[in-house]
Amino acid sequence: MPRRPIAQGIQSASTALVSNLCSLSALKAPRTPTPAFVDEESQPASLLLIGFPFSPEAMEAPLRPLRLRCSVQNYDWGRRGEDSTVARLFERNSGAEIDPSRPYAEFWMGTHESGPSFTGSDSEEVTLKKWIRENPGALGDKVVAKWGTDLPFLFKILSVASALSIQAHPDKELARMLHRMRPNVYKDPNHKPEMAIALTEFKALCGFVSMEELKDVLIGVPEIAELVGNDETNKIICMRELNGYVNAKAVIQSVFTKLMSANKDAILALVSKLKNRLEAENKVNWSIYIRRLSEREQLALLLEKQYHADVGVLAAFFLNYVKLSPGEALYIGPNEPHAYISGECIECMAASDNVVRAGLTPKYIDVPTLCSMLTYKQAFPQILRGIQLNPFITRYTPPFDEFEVDCCILPSKESVVFSPIPGPSIFIIVTGEGRLQTGSTDEERVMEGDVYFVPAHNEIHLSAAPDKPIHLYRSGVNSRIFG
Ligand SMILES: [Zn+2]
Repeated sequence: MPRRPIAQGIQSASTALVSNLCSLSALKAPRTPTPAFVDEESQPASLLLIGFPFSPEAMEAPLRPLRLRCSVQNYDWGRRGEDSTVARLFERNSGAEIDPSRPYAEFWMGTHESGPSFTGSDSEEVTLKKWIRENPGALGDKVVAKWGTDLPFLFKILSVASALSIQAHPDKELARMLHRMRPNVYKDPNHKPEMAIALTEFKALCGFVSMEELKDVLIGVPEIAELVGNDETNKIICMRELNGYVNAKAVIQSVFTKLMSANKDAILALVSKLKNRLEAENKVNWSIYIRRLSEREQLALLLEKQYHADVGVLAAFFLNYVKLSPGEALYIGPNEPHAYISGECIECMAASDNVVRAGLTPKYIDVPTLCSMLTYKQAFPQILRGIQLNPFITRYTPPFDEFEVDCCILPSKESVVFSPIPGPSIFIIVTGEGRLQTGSTDEERVMEGDVYFVPAHNEIHLSAAPDKPIHLYRSGVNSRIFG
């Protein structure tokens, strides 16, 4: 059964003043202050812990953190039963029983209507979206001015057993247009930049390979050359570099569109030809491989096993193959093709569910839109390893205003303080157990699966229990918007 939130609602003005004075006097110096937030020259000592320039809004007692009950998505590609971190966290978070035969793909924390989070008791359950609308102070002035009275980000955990679709997310202008034209498919008018932080080894395809690699593909994978035809193949193979490639975008767009638009029979024939060839070349003869397959060729066989004669098996050769170790992150801007292949990750994104799909999926695919929207930039994606804010907290900052993510790894018996910020946060405890307290609430026991919505201006004290180190993630709006 869901547990009650530790507190909710707006305090009265007099209670707020008393509570605020108490919380200021009760604040202890953080053991590990966040250097980036502290301006020792300009702030009076009592305000150093606030971390941001003084504002009258911050002097009012902040709304208290709320415990959330979150939603799960059982997409086909999710991991099942005990293999799924999503299933484990959902079970702990909601008290629901897990069906070991069902896939548990995504755990959603936020206000998106396709997977809302709830607060309140069983009998008075309200969505976080409704609660925020009634308590906009929880977002802070700047966030309300920029995005209105809703959370601008969506926070998730993913457990991936088989590949997700090859997809891209539209920029704001295209999202508005797609939503207007096909509201049943493109359910909101927002863009959806996203970032994935690996919890386990995490494999993905992202962005187009370099021109040299593409030439190698067209020479080394004759099935692709056959599908796109001699003209397109020769155009790329014969391109010469002269201060970069002239017209690279147009040429790649043309060849990729030809591949993605090929008819089903041709794709079926060429995927099975590719499979037969790779399996034959991978055979062991007298204990010796005829040829060891490359990682990309092994990936093609894996995707064929999962999706059979899907054009994505061939399209995968056009995209960078990225392998993240735990703690490494990848961000994906608008109109960049990508597909997650396997592993578990934390994901944060602008609050949207707009996906343009073009392969590796039984869902609706929209090849013309995908092929016309892509940037066709050829570059290996930037891998983020985060900036260490203190011994326990690492921050991942993508180039998008809507979100950033902190990872906190807190050894047993240690404590840490999250400085107050003038925007909202969501905290999730992925493993471990300990105690959590804000300046204005009693200490509360927390454990894996607990999720909190933390309104603006709360300082969070967290300590780990003996033998129960805590692994926690916090998402919030990008600190750069606070200037
Ligand atoms: Zn995506």
